[in-house]
Amino acid sequence: MLENLQAQAPDALLALIKMHAEDPRENKIDLGVGVYRTNDGATPVFRSIKEAEQKLIDEQDSKSYLGPEGDTGFTAALMPFIFGEDATMGGRIEGMQTPGGTGAVRLAVALAQQAGVTRIHMGTPSWPNHAQILADVGMDIAPFNHATKDGSADLDAVLDAIRNAKPTDAVLLHGCCHNPTGVDYTTGEWDKIASALADAGVLPILDVAYHGLGQGLDEDIAGVRAVLAAVPEALIAYSCDKNFGLYRDRVGAFYMMAKEPNQLDAIVSNANSLARANWSMPPDHGGAAVRHVLCDDTLTGEWLDELTEMRERMRRVRERLAAADNEVPGLNLAALAEQNGLFAMLPLTKDQIAKLREDHAVYMAGSGRINVAGLHAGNTDKFIAALADVTQG
Ligand code: PMP
Repeated sequence: MLENLQAQAPDALLALIKMHAEDPRENKIDLGVGVYRTNDGATPVFRSIKEAEQKLIDEQDSKSYLGPEGDTGFTAALMPFIFGEDATMGGRIEGMQTPGGTGAVRLAVALAQQAGVTRIHMGTPSWPNHAQILADVGMDIAPFNHATKDGSADLDAVLDAIRNAKPTDAVLLHGCCHNPTGVDYTTGEWDKIASALADAGVLPILDVAYHGLGQGLDEDIAGVRAVLAAVPEALIAYSCDKNFGLYRDRVGAFYMMAKEPNQLDAIVSNANSLARANWSMPPDHGGAAVRHVLCDDTLTGEWLDELTEMRERMRRVRERLAAADNEVPGLNLAALAEQNGLFAMLPLTKDQIAKLREDHAVYMAGSGRINVAGLHAGNTDKFIAALADVTQG
């Protein structure tokens, strides 16, 4: 049977990582893979997580099974950061742990399908795995344009998609730090989206993978909260892999907001059985470490400082690139200062991206996406000069 399988195209980003690793040039720049990097180009374990892991090792007395919902202390400890003071919205929200934000997105889409959703509206471009998950679950995709050429969000496109949605449609939105464009909706735009969702009665699926890496923890989640305040029900996928630096430990959470508290048990039981059939239970370690951080004021303070340091560093890189707008006309680098998170999309041609790699050892995704955290004081000027070189004429 297995000989029936056709070879799949290799993941383009993984191929890029390999090419970068094999490049002997010393001053090569990696803007491909989507992880945070310090000024030294490292992706270290957070200090707060290291301490939490030590506590975990000292205190953990069993590794016996939990359940499909994972570490409920972890999902509960995160809730005030996501949902605010009334973290359950009057008993209408419950969460479960998932293998990364990917697991949470997968569960959200599968649960929506189980509830009767057949099509999901999605802004494009998006994180490539969104389309892959939707296709794998068997969901139709209705794309709409996410960003305009001037580097802001295409509000008309998302509002049109919501207003024209059928009752069995859902809408997938990035909570903050849009991947790959960095273009987020403003507070005023989120308010309009929230009321359009409420008027149309369309189920929102909110994907939050970079909380705290844009403008601040509260600022980054304000749009999600505006939606939740306006609509009767929603699904929220959350990743701790970036904002706690836990990437390979696969730490995510999935929250369900029901119209009425008494509907929640039935909804959660469906998510539980879907999780059971997919991965049975999420990996424990990373979620337990996050719980230790969030249940200890000193460690929470340390984590908040680390998050602030990361966010401010990325803002400085964005500002430096924006200041070079005149040096590289046509790329609208100025817009980068207004955008958020790890990513930005540069309107470069395939040839220009290849020239950056071949002539300047600058590695970036074929879509023109760059990871701004791959830049620092030691390589940003070189990157700007390389951009000027490949775009001139
Ligand atoms: N959603 C978006 C928009 C993402 O960019 C990512 C990570 N690349 C995820 C979800 C999933 O993150 P992870 O599974 O690594 O937690």
